[in-house]
Amino acid sequence: MEENFLSNLNEDQKKAVISTDGPNLIVAGAGSGKTRVLTTKLAYLIKNKKAWPNQILCVTFTNKAAREMQNRVMNFFKGAKNSVSWLGTFHSISVKFLRRHAEALGFKSNFTILDTDDQKKLIKKVIEGENLDAKKYSPQLILAIIDKWKNKGQLPNDVKGKFDPIEKIVHKIYKIYQQKIKDLNCMDFGDLILYSVQLFEKNSDIRQIYQKNFKYILVDEFQDTNFIQNKWLNLLVNEKNNICCVGDDDQSIYSWRGAEIKNFLTFDKLYKDCKIFKLQQNYRSTKNILDTASILISNNKSRIGKKLLSKKNDGELVKLNCYQTGRDEAEGVSDIIENNLQKKFSLNDITILVRAIYQTREFEERFLKIGLGYRIIGGMRFYERAEIKDLVAYLRVISQKTDDLALERVIGVPKKGIGESTLNQIYTFSNKEKLCLEDAIAKMIREGLFKPKIKIALEKLINSLNKWREDSKKIKHYDLIKTIIDESGYSQMLKNKKDIENENRLENIKELIRAMHDYENLQSFLEHVSLATSIDQNWEGDKINLMTMHAAKGLEFEVVFLPGWEEGLFPHQKSLEEKGDFALEEERRLAYVGITRAKQEAFISFAMRRVYHGDWVDALPSRFVGELPEKNIEKNESQNFKDDTDFDFNQDIQIEFDDEYRSPGWERFKRKNKLIK
Ligand code: ATP
Ligand code: MG
Repeated sequence: MEENFLSNLNEDQKKAVISTDGPNLIVAGAGSGKTRVLTTKLAYLIKNKKAWPNQILCVTFTNKAAREMQNRVMNFFKGAKNSVSWLGTFHSISVKFLRRHAEALGFKSNFTILDTDDQKKLIKKVIEGENLDAKKYSPQLILAIIDKWKNKGQLPNDVKGKFDPIEKIVHKIYKIYQQKIKDLNCMDFGDLILYSVQLFEKNSDIRQIYQKNFKYILVDEFQDTNFIQNKWLNLLVNEKNNICCVGDDDQSIYSWRGAEIKNFLTFDKLYKDCKIFKLQQNYRSTKNILDTASILISNNKSRIGKKLLSKKNDGELVKLNCYQTGRDEAEGVSDIIENNLQKKFSLNDITILVRAIYQTREFEERFLKIGLGYRIIGGMRFYERAEIKDLVAYLRVISQKTDDLALERVIGVPKKGIGESTLNQIYTFSNKEKLCLEDAIAKMIREGLFKPKIKIALEKLINSLNKWREDSKKIKHYDLIKTIIDESGYSQMLKNKKDIENENRLENIKELIRAMHDYENLQSFLEHVSLATSIDQNWEGDKINLMTMHAAKGLEFEVVFLPGWEEGLFPHQKSLEEKGDFALEEERRLAYVGITRAKQEAFISFAMRRVYHGDWVDALPSRFVGELPEKNIEKNESQNFKDDTDFDFNQDIQIEFDDEYRSPGWERFKRKNKLIK
């Protein structure tokens, strides 16, 4: 057992760690060791026998962070079995509560967790059922409004106040949707937290079990909790108020998902005897990087205001690069990596952080062309790929008969000659008889309601499902999937497909089977599938990382590129239009998060022209570029002035490159910033 892990901390950090009892708030800037303090505190509590590992509730922002924390704690206690069982995200911990107590809420404990795709499908069905115009009421819009209500802790009957005409309709849809998912024994992501809160509110005996058990609660990234998450925490804090939250108001970037900085700013009012700790040493970034970020964020008016000192040397100046076009920018970045960075760093240490995920395309094209390895974190998740979703649907319906959404998918692949009209017939029957889809099909077969061909196909499916359910009791889940792939005709279907994508599909399926070995049983594997976020993917191999700034929270890399610093893209036009000044400050916080991910080198860049929604637009440099401190940055203009008439990377747009494209604003900007005389 490592004896003196406190020696890896500075004095302020130590104080924050050993202050174990009562409410504690640690407020500190990026890279000051907040997460390190939290991890050490977790180990400290266990080592000093303040609590058993399963008596500490520790909430992290991502599953990846949870895993890292678990590993760090295991390292503290080398070899010892000190797994912290209540360590995870709000969602993953909520699932644990709900599996144990589903019955108290009228669910069965094998409920399915819906993904966005499932949610959209269900909403579409409700829209159709209500004869609404699907164009006017897009599933995305409806789900966003429902999500907003859920983040505020409001189930359909709790939503009050004045509705605008759209909200009125959405409210009606919400009611039907919520009933439907309950009938299917499913929950969506928002439900996981909302129903946990309801569980504790309605069942004080259950609540007390946990409240007593959790001697300590630790929360990372507290600035980004929303109303319902905060309530969830408040319900679980014990009578000694042993809760320790760490956060940074300057890194609050999720208000669009309902995060309320108020939770953070009023923590000391809620917990009157709260101790507040500040950490001022930054251990992550060089001085130039840290100063650049600090000066930029000082332009925000609504902030607590903190000082941060770098423990490192000055380091390289932060590079500010101006490019002609988006493609030019991608080339420029790849040149820097190839000619310079690759000598010093592994590609894994290099990350490109974008504001909008579509920005990655130009980089991808470039990296593919020159053969540099890359990975997109937050692009399509592994479990969102069609073939994986197909097979997971089989597993879902085997695990839970009432999962109609999964069964609908299973009916569709491989094709069984069941068309839309038969499906509608089954749905109508199941509604009328109040049966799940599978039971409805079985009953319809018995009553002879299908045409012979369809009957044979469906009978075969129902028999197979029953057989696989029996198999699942006898064989391992990773062997079960192999049986399903063979017996369902899925492998035959793939053999018959001759397109180039097939190779990838087969690879993905192999990877799926491999991944299933990591989980004890089918249920825990399915839970992993539904909770895995986009950053919970394979980080191994020497590849450049491409991801959004939002997804990079809490992470750190040797080198960070921040492309696309142009008005409208960053700060993002949409969020500016929506929320004005408030949104601008949130965008600036995002810039702060982006820059402070870098340990050694940071490259900020913007292009003068960019293809946007299929059109060329003149871009003005982001206002944030003008806020960067002169003394910490080095400005460069791409020398890549070439005749660009061969642009062909977006449909058939061909644009002549001439002076017209250098907007007056751009000229002014360059003069002001001494890029030209
Ligand atoms: P963020 O705000 O980005 O989440 P943070 O405050 O959580 O950052 P950490 O990730 O805990 O900061 O720490 C930043 C880096 O500094 C990590 O690499 C960590 O290992 C290192 N670090 C933290 N404290 C110390 C210390 N006392 N001595 C040496 N290195 C440290
Ligand atoms: Mg952190």
